[in-house]
Amino acid sequence: MSPQDPRSRIPRTDALLASPEVAAAAGRLGPDALRRLVSAAQQQARSGEIEPEQVVAVLTDSLQRPPTGLRPVLNATGVVIHTNLGRAPLSPGAIDAVTAAAGYVDVELDLPSGARSKRGLSARDALLARCPAAQQALVVNNGAAALVLATTTLAQGREIIVSRGELVEIGAGFRLPDLIASTGARLREIGTTNRTHLRDYAEAIGPDTGAILKVHPSNFRVDGFTASVTVAELRAVATENKLPLLVDLGSGLLEHDPVIPDEPDAGTTLAAGADVVTASGDKLLGGPQAGIVLGCKEIVDRMAQHPLARAVRADKLALAALEATLNGPVTPTAASLHADSDRLAERAALLAAATDGEVVPHDGRVGGGGAPGVPLGGWAVALPENLAPALRVGDPAVLPRVHGGHCLIDLRCVPEADDERLTAAVVAALGR
Ligand SMILES: *Cc1c(COP(=O)(O)O)cnc(C)c1O
Repeated sequence: MSPQDPRSRIPRTDALLASPEVAAAAGRLGPDALRRLVSAAQQQARSGEIEPEQVVAVLTDSLQRPPTGLRPVLNATGVVIHTNLGRAPLSPGAIDAVTAAAGYVDVELDLPSGARSKRGLSARDALLARCPAAQQALVVNNGAAALVLATTTLAQGREIIVSRGELVEIGAGFRLPDLIASTGARLREIGTTNRTHLRDYAEAIGPDTGAILKVHPSNFRVDGFTASVTVAELRAVATENKLPLLVDLGSGLLEHDPVIPDEPDAGTTLAAGADVVTASGDKLLGGPQAGIVLGCKEIVDRMAQHPLARAVRADKLALAALEATLNGPVTPTAASLHADSDRLAERAALLAAATDGEVVPHDGRVGGGGAPGVPLGGWAVALPENLAPALRVGDPAVLPRVHGGHCLIDLRCVPEADDERLTAAVVAALGR
């Protein structure tokens, strides 16, 4: 390498490692991570991507990023519960609660007496306060775990009756029938894909029946010649045969929401006669990944005492975030779901003006396997389709919707406070 070679001006590793910038980050990053970032910045200069004089600035920037491979993304798809983006974003209160719970916390301790207490009592109480139709609540790791724990507790080695119209694949190849079968309960399928009647349930019940299960087929709709049995109707059959009635709701809505009128909620479902409902914490409830169990005390307590409960228990961070979500104001999820169309149009017009885009009508979606086919009327800014890759890898990363030859930016799920960052990201991606 000649002295004129710009690579000779790249700061040396030992100098960079000894720099105040690296020293300042040493409390958050281990020595190996620091070395990796130093060499990545040097490598960018070696490859000519940046000037040698920029190495320190690039390094400083990378040192300040959160020490995780998970990158924050602005969700410009209009899909509220976006599974690939981690479903529900947490509210500011829930984020505070997660930080507070990160150290030692009294998650299983009664501080006044010093005695051990039940885990996550305050999250449970927050759930019961929001869902008065439930006598008891339990929080587990996720919705699938709630269903597995319920079927194991109620029907292991026995039959669980479920309609063929409710045998759902929830995503990524995971099928509820397989999940239930893995618990050792035998699935007793009744009815047909499009029609199941009350008599189908009544005829299937026998000495081996452990429970009746109703699953909300959250991610698809069967239209046309259809029939299904309501929870209230099933209540009568369940009572007559002294069987527990379990309803897997999926979405975690606690009360009815007129924007998504067909989406069942926990309060109404319990009032209609379900013994137990199961749901996710990070779908329409708008909280952390968690499985919610609500219902009659006897069954929920039995589930809590089952050995499997230990294997699916919620961690303290989720418990803290869930409680804060339940006690907090409108969640980001609910805000996106109910976003005002006129306000979305105004924001879209500002973005379009700054980026030479065009405001077009655009329907958002609930997503996450909820309320399929329900359009959330709004607007998007249409930009050239080839902008999408640059937006995805920009800073901040932006996920647009690519559709019909356009790159569409829907602001429904972008917090208004991020509009300027989003605009800057689009301008940068346009190369202006
Ligand atoms: C999403 C969903 C589940 C699984 O919940 P996770 O929280 O993803 O584990 C189970 N049942 C239904 C009906 C669902 O929609």
